[in-house]
Amino acid sequence: MTLRLFRTFTLQVIHKRFYNQSPVRVRFAPSPTGQLHLGGLRTALYNYLFARQNGGSFILRIEDTDQLRVEVGAMEKLQEDLLWSGIIPDEGPMTGGPKGPYVQSKRLDLYREQIEKLLENGSAYYCFCSERRLEMLRKEAMKAGEVPKYDNRCRHLEKEVIASKLSRQDPHCIRFKLTDKPKPFHDLVYGDVSISQGEGDPVVIKSDGFPTYHFANVVDDHFMEISHVLRGIEWQISTPKHLEMYQAFGWTPPQFGHLPLILNADGTKLSKRQGDIKVESFRKDGIFPLALLNYITYAGGGFRRTEGFQDVCHTYANLIKQFDISKINTSSSKLHHDKLMEFNKLELSNLLDDTNNMGFLVRKLQDMVLEAFPDRRNDGSLQLDDHHMITILEWARDRITKLTDLISKDLAFLWVAPRLSKAIEDPEILASLRTLYTELQNWERSNFERHQLNDYLKKFANDNGLKFPAFMKSLRTVLSGLQHGPSVAEMMEILGKDKTLDRLKHCHSH
Ligand code: GLU
Repeated sequence: MTLRLFRTFTLQVIHKRFYNQSPVRVRFAPSPTGQLHLGGLRTALYNYLFARQNGGSFILRIEDTDQLRVEVGAMEKLQEDLLWSGIIPDEGPMTGGPKGPYVQSKRLDLYREQIEKLLENGSAYYCFCSERRLEMLRKEAMKAGEVPKYDNRCRHLEKEVIASKLSRQDPHCIRFKLTDKPKPFHDLVYGDVSISQGEGDPVVIKSDGFPTYHFANVVDDHFMEISHVLRGIEWQISTPKHLEMYQAFGWTPPQFGHLPLILNADGTKLSKRQGDIKVESFRKDGIFPLALLNYITYAGGGFRRTEGFQDVCHTYANLIKQFDISKINTSSSKLHHDKLMEFNKLELSNLLDDTNNMGFLVRKLQDMVLEAFPDRRNDGSLQLDDHHMITILEWARDRITKLTDLISKDLAFLWVAPRLSKAIEDPEILASLRTLYTELQNWERSNFERHQLNDYLKKFANDNGLKFPAFMKSLRTVLSGLQHGPSVAEMMEILGKDKTLDRLKHCHSH
């Protein structure tokens, strides 16, 4: 054993023995009832950062016990969105791992086995109440202006009655006995929290034999050896109930921390129906994963913010380094759309800084163009050569916020070569374009800049006795085949020297 390894090993042993701390294992546990949206992404991200920061493991678990709400394909889509965002689980349905399976519907035997323990020690009981009776209880409560709750009637059934109902196969569920006084608990984000539930005993195994969320969640967190549960604030109300279940099993619970709500900048709630909070919408819109993650982290706390921290689109490594669970705010996080655009611009620039990324960016842009001009795919009029793509990407740095900006209508001339039929007929203009071509050949590429070009074109028209507007109109046609778009000089700048010459040559070789 090398000295370094030996040190690490002894430190681990000392740590475990004296601090009695188990390794950090956290999980993201979405239900596959829809697509990943910003709230879920934030939960996944904070768990991931916490795991990475502590040398722990990040686990993905799919909670699909509510079979009626499961959406076909949602599980695959969730994993795809997570991979896209760079939040890669160490264990999960795709990766596998030592504590699998990682999909709850594949763990039914475990739940069956575990519920027996609670039935045996008296913490859970069979309930034979019919849907009709429960409905009546609900109605009575409503009439009395009370919150409906189960009256725990089946807690008191005689053993013999239960046995005979079970042997008759009467429909039933299993409920967990809640105490009257739930204990306060320490929330890693909110501090000491006490919530009085005032609810009836919750169902833990439904009449179809499937566990409910609460039961499967506790059993899985225990068997997957989860050390910390970081989840949305909407689950805080369930935590006392979960803690009672840990106690009933005689298990040590994980530590709990709840993440505040994410709101729109104006304080209104994000709605799942709003298409624009789905991760997929951002993907399609040309947002880079890191820009999206920075946007989310900007909204809430959770980071040691040194000066200028918020002006940078941070890398994964930096986010991991700066993450600090004690800095998560308890007040709601607000999203600022303009920040998303700023981060995306910064990220594009970061990506362009590294030539290794060029191939990826070029391919991405090529795909976007192909998708944007489907009717031009096969007629050879799309200009997608790597050199052209790189010129455009370089030009675009600091000018655009998203790659999709490059396929806007105004910039269609970049990709679609003008049709030959649009070539110029007027012999005088044609001759001048030929001269222009020859003169421009001697230009340095770096001088292809709109102001210089504009001054030059004015002088050129003047020197050649051409009417400036008519000349510019023809030049626009030759360069873009379009009537509208940016100024001609700007178009030449964006196209760059090579493509400008290409298109000029094209018109008079015709
Ligand atoms: N399945 C729950 C959800 O959809 C998980 C909540 C938790 O993390 O305990 O958010």
